[in-house]
Amino acid sequence: MFPFNLNVDFQQLVGVIITVVAILAATLTALWISMIIWAYRDMRSRSRDTFAQVMVALLVGVLSVPGLLVYLILRPQETLAEQYERALEEEALLQEIENKQVCAGCGHPTKEDWRLCPYCHTKLKKNCPGCSKLLDLPWTICPYCETPQTEQSQPGRRSAAAAYASSYRTNEIEDI
Ligand SMILES: [Zn+2]
Ligand SMILES: [Zn+2]
Repeated sequence: MFPFNLNVDFQQLVGVIITVVAILAATLTALWISMIIWAYRDMRSRSRDTFAQVMVALLVGVLSVPGLLVYLILRPQETLAEQYERALEEEALLQEIENKQVCAGCGHPTKEDWRLCPYCHTKLKKNCPGCSKLLDLPWTICPYCETPQTEQSQPGRRSAAAAYASSYRTNEIEDI
């Protein structure tokens, strides 16, 4: 009886060991494949370089956990989405700086709806004779009402401030 029982127990033990090893192997393989996929996807979100993406997958595939560690240490800091966001922010900042208006005459900051610089009396904007909206001086046509901005159309409608500015400047020259 005893040897027979032992034989059966041994076979059962071998069966259990094989099952455990198989489960372990399957788990490790699944983990290994997941690591490769994760590393590949992560690199793809950080670089458009296909060669780099494949190299990362190979690195993790060959070296497994140490390969993943090496990748985590060396991977690009920013994802492409983060890079794009940063570029947008920088552009918005640049736009803001560009949009900050300054007087061409004295460099003082001016407001968008100012027709004249209060510091040096330089003319900043003109009124459209058609719709009297404020226009930039170099504009040759009104973007609101399509009235052409000819030199002749300006003097008659010149603002009191602009007239004052020119007279002020004339006086200044006369004083000298
Ligand atoms: Zn000025
Ligand atoms: Zn107009």
